[in-house]
Amino acid sequence: MSLPLYLIGARGCGKTTVGQALAKASGYAFSDTDRHLQQTTQRSVADIVSAEGWEGFRQRESLSLQAVTAPATVIATGGGMVLAAENRKFMREHGRVIYLKAEARVLAARLQAYPEQDQRPTLTGRPIADEMVEVLAERDALYQQTAHYVINAMQRPEKVVEDIIAMLALARA
Ligand code: ADP
Ligand code: MG
Repeated sequence: MSLPLYLIGARGCGKTTVGQALAKASGYAFSDTDRHLQQTTQRSVADIVSAEGWEGFRQRESLSLQAVTAPATVIATGGGMVLAAENRKFMREHGRVIYLKAEARVLAARLQAYPEQDQRPTLTGRPIADEMVEVLAERDALYQQTAHYVINAMQRPEKVVEDIIAMLALARA
């Protein structure tokens, strides 16, 4: 059976972009926990957070993670998915976890270039570049410890996909 592949990493690291391309290249299905959450609640992340707080959002996020988990599926996860120990354990036990790692300045540049694609409210209300430095300081160790594989996500998406496929093939051998 082909285990699900979980993509983790901060906002802007390419979980959705790379995930869709990886699914296409591998013949896997594609799911996105943020999209699942929005479709099942009919609300945006921002709306859920303002109505229920981050805690309510995090609870719903865990349910989405479980709901989209299926064999032969690439799963793009929300940037904060690793904050809950329950989610970290769930992903490691149910599939292979891939950390798309990129520096804060690269993440900030991407999010600044396409702000409209990112519906999530900023966590601190401060400049995005400062925020990404803080987010990574808080989460990099969690991404790192949750991942079975760490991939350099500062390359073009096609190369990131290639690296993931090569790494998985090596791991099978
Ligand atoms: P995530 O789902 O991790 O938040 P996205 O896939 O939505 O990230 O990507 C955020 C933005 O960065 C998008 O505008 C996307 O086109 C761009 N992007 C993603 N991956 C790359 C990459 N490897 N190189 C350049 N730009 C990228
Ligand atoms: Mg995404």
